[in-house]
Amino acid sequence: MSSAAVLQDGFRRPITYLRLSVTDRCNFRCVYCMPEKMRFLPRAQVLRKEELLQVGAAFVALGINKIRLTGGEPLVNPDLPWLVDNLSGLPGLDQLALTTNGERLDRCAKALKAAGLDCINVSLDSLRPERFAELTRTGKLKRVLDGILAAQQAGFNRIKLNVVVLRGRNDDEVLDLVRFARRELLDITFIEEMPLGHISEHDRQLSFVSSDEIRTTIAREFALVLTDKTTGGPARYYRMDDSPISVGFISPHSSNFCASCNRVRVTAEGRLLLCLGNEDSIDLRQVVRENPDDSDALEQTIRGAISLKPERHYFDLNEAPQIVRFMNMTGG
Ligand code: SAM
Ligand code: SF4
Repeated sequence: MSSAAVLQDGFRRPITYLRLSVTDRCNFRCVYCMPEKMRFLPRAQVLRKEELLQVGAAFVALGINKIRLTGGEPLVNPDLPWLVDNLSGLPGLDQLALTTNGERLDRCAKALKAAGLDCINVSLDSLRPERFAELTRTGKLKRVLDGILAAQQAGFNRIKLNVVVLRGRNDDEVLDLVRFARRELLDITFIEEMPLGHISEHDRQLSFVSSDEIRTTIAREFALVLTDKTTGGPARYYRMDDSPISVGFISPHSSNFCASCNRVRVTAEGRLLLCLGNEDSIDLRQVVRENPDDSDALEQTIRGAISLKPERHYFDLNEAPQIVRFMNMTGG
């Protein structure tokens, strides 16, 4: 039952963007994302490559035109190039994107470009090797910088950095990161930390830095001009007169973007999450496993689920997290 009709939720929002998590595993343990001793899912619970393709294809058949592959760390999934190759050819898919920590990019950027990947976001929270190691608990800054270079050399030209800003840990690097992005011609987006999963290493109330504060810091050195660019998500984008890069701010706390939300997520175990700040989900894995050759059942399940998408999220830093899953489970 393929249909060119655009998916719409119960609030008449067109749903055009899927974030598909291809693994919950990761080679980093970022302090805001997961605990140091993280327990990952048994492999049998995680969608296999054919199942990921089936899910992606069903969404595209229903009118989704952008897919972002995420995780966990997508590059620890050895099937990623196969998946990119197969998804990128789906008629109707305009953009296939990847969010990565960059650690393995130097090995596979070229192959991913050849397989049809359109664009890459790389998470980078510090330019200081020791601090980078502390924030990621296992990461080496040089590997990520080499990865970014490899992606540039492979021909990806809209590479974007994602920075989660934490007070007292990397908030003093905001300007350094902007200068780096300007020099390397990389877009950059600053993200407010979200209360997903219980973490013990820092108090999220104390570490919170608002997008307004970060913008004020940047404006001390670089004049920012608001643009009307939107991806239908929580980001607001600015430009500078003397550089082609864009500077974005993702503000799940300080600005409400739900009215224009165009996205849903599928977790590594195949749960369709309709809203980042809501626990409700629909099990697509069961539908895929019970109907391996029948896209109708999957498409009908997705259609039915989309109509249940909640109107908005509520995050409250003063309360214990209402969302108990970690970001690597969510598909950030
Ligand atoms: N491993 C890949 C990476 O780090 O880019 C992809 C998955 S990661 C979960 C996706 C994005 O979510 C990253 O940019 C990361 O910084 C961000 N993230 C993780 N936990 C977060 C949290 N609690 N609040 C805000 N952003 C978070
Ligand atoms: Fe891994 Fe990405 Fe989470 Fe860091 S943010 S632990 S790299 S999934």
